[in-house]
Amino acid sequence: MVEEATIRCLADYEHSSEERLKGPMYGIVVDATRRFFKPHNSKYVASLKVIDHTWNKAKSPAGFVPFMKLVLISSVRDDIPNIKTIGSIIKLKDGALKRINDMKSSSLMCTWDGATASNKWELFSSEPEQEEKSAKASDAQEEKYLATLRTFTKSYFAEQYFLDVANTLTMAKNSDTEFDVIVRLAKAGLVSEGDGKSFDLKLVDHTGKAHLRIPQGVMAEEFPKLDNSALLMVKGARYRDAKENIIELKDYGNLLIVPVASIIATRFFELTHLYNEGTKVEQRITQEGLTKSFTVSQIADPTLLLSPIKSIFASTEPLPRYRLRVYVVDIGPKDVHSWVKGYCAACMKSFDLTDQDEPTQPKCLICEKEAQTIFQIQLFVKDWKDRDSDEIYKLMLYTHNGKGNGFFDHEPAVNLRRDQRLYQKLKSMHRLLTKYGVYLDCVVERMSKEMNAYFQVCDTVVSCDCVREIKD
Ligand SMILES: [Zn+2]
Repeated sequence: MVEEATIRCLADYEHSSEERLKGPMYGIVVDATRRFFKPHNSKYVASLKVIDHTWNKAKSPAGFVPFMKLVLISSVRDDIPNIKTIGSIIKLKDGALKRINDMKSSSLMCTWDGATASNKWELFSSEPEQEEKSAKASDAQEEKYLATLRTFTKSYFAEQYFLDVANTLTMAKNSDTEFDVIVRLAKAGLVSEGDGKSFDLKLVDHTGKAHLRIPQGVMAEEFPKLDNSALLMVKGARYRDAKENIIELKDYGNLLIVPVASIIATRFFELTHLYNEGTKVEQRITQEGLTKSFTVSQIADPTLLLSPIKSIFASTEPLPRYRLRVYVVDIGPKDVHSWVKGYCAACMKSFDLTDQDEPTQPKCLICEKEAQTIFQIQLFVKDWKDRDSDEIYKLMLYTHNGKGNGFFDHEPAVNLRRDQRLYQKLKSMHRLLTKYGVYLDCVVERMSKEMNAYFQVCDTVVSCDCVREIKD
């Protein structure tokens, strides 16, 4: 019957109670485990996260994360697809359905058993031009529907963070748990391990490198040939030997190719670039800092004359602002994660943030209203002419009143327990600011008119672009 062959979208399955797939079901895969064997019930399983134009962030039912979980089960291995590319479109047919709705997602379990129907699923590529490597549309209706899905995929991947992977190779190394991480393949080769051979995939991200070992047989059976320099999501990995940077996959662990035309890829390469630029500047200063002096900041008004820091702390004059050139002995708090705090303007109080707090709008601990995020840092400095003096002064970077909020390369303050990119960038700026031979040109304002008042940094920007040798 015509009706049975009608294509339905994911939203149609939200309240459907059917126990068998009638028409074909299509989903765009954003995440997938490898197909793996579950010994306790002798079944092969793969777990996928799928979306479509009816099941995305904007339209998903309240309380559900914006994907549908698909669990595919069969006692025959080849019944289970082995998905390797994010953005692949899967078409399912003929399975028995069971709905599992949990708090986190809407899930469908699709089981093929007994039946030996050959055509249980098909995989289509997200790019029509790659069709020679994948299935082809069987008719005009399917071709039209695939075009809709592909158009949606393209804009969705360009705008949405469809993967929630905040880990880096270095962060994962410091924890014992399994992890997912986005990396670039740098090199692949065979190595001898135990009695056999393993593939050694050298993986890199902006924080470091690791060697993923996969036994040769598993590689041949379960993984495609990967292009050199492919961008990959490594899923379900753990460190086997942290000292040698060797990682391995769990039985469901997977390697998924991340599309280059996506915001995830753009972010990955931006981070790498940022890190490389920062590293270049650091290396230069480390090499030359013993004989040369550098300033790493720019001030809004370069016509201001330099004041000796001692004089401004001694003065009671209510002068609005001073220009200082100092070198930074230390920065507090020690843990860069704590450089960004929550601040409630109503209670006039700042508070520590946790990884549960929103990136930019945490809740005030006292009045529970929406608060803002600010930088709250102390710089312990000496005057640049006075390296041998014992006198250390404290300057504040407190951006609660908007002053100094461009200090870190114009980056807005974001909860650093939620923003890995900014955290890495500030760590690099911390190293830069405290390096030998590095000076900070800054403008400060008195926070109160009393003696021993605090001085607050304002109108000052630190960035790699501002690094200049001081000649005078
Ligand atoms: Zn409050």
